[in-house]
Amino acid sequence: MNHKTKKKFGQNFLMDKNILDKIILLSKPNKKNIIEIGPGTGNLTKYILKEEPKKLLAFEIDEDLIPLLKDEFSSFENFKLIASDFLKVNLEEIIEEEFFGENVDVIANLPYYISSRIIFKLLENPQVNSIGIMLQKELVERIVSKPSTKAYGRFSVALNSFYEIEDYFIVSRNVFNPVPKVDSAFIKLNKRKVFPKEIKDYLEFIKLSFAQKRKTFLNSLKTNELFYNITYKYLVKQNYDLKIRAESLSYKEFINIYEEIEKEKNA
Ligand code: SAM
Repeated sequence: MNHKTKKKFGQNFLMDKNILDKIILLSKPNKKNIIEIGPGTGNLTKYILKEEPKKLLAFEIDEDLIPLLKDEFSSFENFKLIASDFLKVNLEEIIEEEFFGENVDVIANLPYYISSRIIFKLLENPQVNSIGIMLQKELVERIVSKPSTKAYGRFSVALNSFYEIEDYFIVSRNVFNPVPKVDSAFIKLNKRKVFPKEIKDYLEFIKLSFAQKRKTFLNSLKTNELFYNITYKYLVKQNYDLKIRAESLSYKEFINIYEEIEKEKNA
């Protein structure tokens, strides 16, 4: 495909057959409902379609790429292209219309400046059964980090509360064209069976917990009376040090505390 790459859309195309094979091996798209975000010139799209997914729905923001992608893939009956900014689409509605509300699996090699926003958008949709995504290496280090380490924070807790890590591998910057400034890693995440039901409220709880680095966990929650009061009671009951910091709590501990909040809210 002839296409002049656009920096503003974070276009670094994946050129390496071995890496493409490894992504497919981990993602296993056969017979699945797949969403691909940012197909670009279709390098990964081609590999996904070879595996015969039930349906592949791709979202591409760059209008110049749309005719190229249509030319190459419109003969596939299970392929559909949406020319949109993925961050702006109503994902819940699209999953209902295009996949009849069934589970979907996401595969994406995206620009790094939008990857955490994309991930938070995916987290809010319970139908997203798995996410196979190429990320900046540092972001993957945050996802796999343990409490009380430098990389650990809001992002690690949010993600691990909803998804478990199946596997990941490091990808050298040299397999992309043009070559980006950082190395990458591809990670496969599978939805947990049990996760907080009130997704937005739970994410707000985490956000607040980590909002002020210098404060203790409890003090960070002070702006939300309900979060603060229930967390305070829980920490006392469970014999926690009240000066504990959010960075030293595991995602499971966050979920346990949040379950108390949910109970109280629904009482
Ligand atoms: N998947 C292709 C590959 O592996 O070669 C392209 C990867 S390139 C890093 C990222 C792609 O995402 C580009 O095609 C870019 O135009 C597209 N993109 C960037 N922002 C987007 C957005 N908000 N919604 C949908 N696509 C986007």
